[in-house]
Amino acid sequence: MGEILDGKAVAERVRAEVGGRVAALAERGIVPGLATVLVGDDPASRVYVGSKEKGCAALGMRSFGHRIAADVTTAELVALVEELNARPEVHGILVQLPLPAPIDADAVIQAIAPAKDVDGLTVVSQGRLLAGRPGLRPCTPLGIMRLITETGVPLRGAGAVVVGRSLLVGKPIALMLLERHATVTLCHSRTRDLGAVVRGGDVVVAAVGRPELVRGEWIREGALVIDVGINRTADGRLVGDVEFATARTRAAWITPVPGGVGPMTVAMLLANTAAAAGAGIAA
Ligand code: NAD
Repeated sequence: MGEILDGKAVAERVRAEVGGRVAALAERGIVPGLATVLVGDDPASRVYVGSKEKGCAALGMRSFGHRIAADVTTAELVALVEELNARPEVHGILVQLPLPAPIDADAVIQAIAPAKDVDGLTVVSQGRLLAGRPGLRPCTPLGIMRLITETGVPLRGAGAVVVGRSLLVGKPIALMLLERHATVTLCHSRTRDLGAVVRGGDVVVAAVGRPELVRGEWIREGALVIDVGINRTADGRLVGDVEFATARTRAAWITPVPGGVGPMTVAMLLANTAAAAGAGIAA
């Protein structure tokens, strides 16, 4: 029976580390500041932004909340981002996705200055990751890498199978695993015989958004399984992209849903904001 990889516990440790960095920055007169931009009144987005702002406050960082009506134009949002780019007390800018139609979300994201791109979603940040240069990395993949590190499972030479190729999770986690010398296979909706590919994975990362798409019987004995998916079933339960109960009987380590990758994402956003404030990141 696989061990549960407890994202809540690891996220608490990350938050404590970030708290230490915030204290060190305070000695240099710097208080990390995160600007949040929430457009419209989607209840889930409101909860996510609220937890990010609370996370900042708990660690002695500032947050600057911007609540914007859904009828805002793309040009107005880009202008807001440009204003935040110029404000010295703002070290990170978080535009909560998804943005309501017809806003051009990509235009808004790309307007964020790379030095403040704490979600790591601009083409500059993604390009830096691809090129192996320092930069701000997307929070969910960063959190996944931290979880993997906590297990002590070696990545060098390991077979890593990533299911899902989004810019938010799949592509960047594939690059980060590659950076750590795993042999990476990136699967997606057109992949033939997904089960056969997943069976080759010493590490499996599922980021699809389809309940229990990854069957437990596909998991190699002793594998490390990271389940990014958050899916609500018809009867109101939250389930991941992996068939958890069966997968756990075969895996050495597995993340639960909820309580696995989810808590890590906010913790890494706080870490990125402190890093951006520390100015380790080139503009
Ligand atoms: P997305 O919809 O942008 O991408 C899904 C990917 O899955 C696509 O690349 C697609 O090719 C692939 N896919 C779709 N059907 C497939 C199939 N049958 N077989 C193989 N691949 C298939 O999603 P995303 O933004 O990457 O998010 C994925 C999931 O992770 C969602 O459930 C989302 O809610 C969750 N998520 C969780 C966190 C967190 O903090 N825990 C963060 C981001 C996303």
